[in-house]
Amino acid sequence: MFPIEKLEKSPTPLYYYDLKLLQDTLQAIKDAIPDDRFKVHYAIKACNNPQVIKVIADAGFGADCVSGGEILQALEAGIAPEKIVYAGVGKTDAEILLGLEKGIGCFNVESIEELEVINDLALKAGKVAPIAFRINPNIDAHTHEYITTGLAENKFGIPHHLEKEAVKKAKEMKGVRLKGLHFHIGSQITINEPFALLSHRVNSMQDDYAKQGITFETINVGGGLGIDYDDPDGNPIPDFKSYFSTFARDLNLRHGQELHFELGRSVVGQCGSLITRVLYVKKGAGKQFVILDAGFPDLIRPALYGAHHKIENLSAALRASEADGSKDTTAVYDIVGPICESTDCFGKDERLPITQRGDIIALRSAGAYGEAMASGYNTRPLPSSLLA
Ligand SMILES: *Cc1c(COP(=O)(O)O)cnc(C)c1O
Repeated sequence: MFPIEKLEKSPTPLYYYDLKLLQDTLQAIKDAIPDDRFKVHYAIKACNNPQVIKVIADAGFGADCVSGGEILQALEAGIAPEKIVYAGVGKTDAEILLGLEKGIGCFNVESIEELEVINDLALKAGKVAPIAFRINPNIDAHTHEYITTGLAENKFGIPHHLEKEAVKKAKEMKGVRLKGLHFHIGSQITINEPFALLSHRVNSMQDDYAKQGITFETINVGGGLGIDYDDPDGNPIPDFKSYFSTFARDLNLRHGQELHFELGRSVVGQCGSLITRVLYVKKGAGKQFVILDAGFPDLIRPALYGAHHKIENLSAALRASEADGSKDTTAVYDIVGPICESTDCFGKDERLPITQRGDIIALRSAGAYGEAMASGYNTRPLPSSLLA
């Protein structure tokens, strides 16, 4: 629930994170894990708010990082280096050296070119880099309009025809230790089928490698579990039980092997809302516009992906609970931001309670890829944040 009095006194735009829901979500993940060989790494890029990371770190999760900056944030939050994994197609030398120096748990390597650089840098530093190969499993998730990353045409991972060569090379190198295989097929996946497909793909790959006498300590299946953007109150916590049990049922872990996950959106998506104030209710030609003090620099998903976040007028809800009249109290509005771009729109023809200047509006399910993607476009300040 929203601490409405606190929010009314806060500067807006503001990212509000519901601490209780975040903690309940983390507990739900722990409760859903069927097997202590399953290890969850939180994908920091979903929300890099230091207070949020701290709560997740305190709950005992590892971190999935995609930059040197995120590695430092994970360490600062108290996450042990060996529980940090590091992915990305464009790791810089400085970032690789940082990972080596801090002793992170695994570099998820995305190309043979990168493998060679990591090996060189590790040898020069007198270290051995633990690595996994990110494999592009070519799982077609197109039909369901996911945000796909696991298709052959994507830039991610080692292409299938080079995989054997990469493994052979790594086995011969002295600066790397090949620990595992890594996959990540996409984001906002709300059915289990692609995860089952991925599990079967992993099984057949492991069978092939076993024939050559090659085994792995870890299999990392990435993240991608989706959230319910339409009904955040009905489904505040994703169905982690069903997600993990798909892997428990379909993926054959070998003796002593760990199964790693990199969950981002499903951990933090529902606990965050972008809180914004109504600046103007503007009468247009045949339309009414609610103009907010938040725009796409604060929350870019609608402009970038055509995403929709549920829009809630918290002040009007409060007025309604105090009033006893039964007149028509709703109207239809376009909900827009202040930026000079037509894509700066959070909702078209939305039915909301009668809305007034100064009302507090919540854009729901904005915890993931919200604050982390905010920019200062138009020389506007970044949104502030509150975890409570
Ligand atoms: C973005 C990303 C994740 C997290 O994805 P979610 O959809 O937020 O769970 C996990 N692993 C890798 C490699 C990523 O790039």
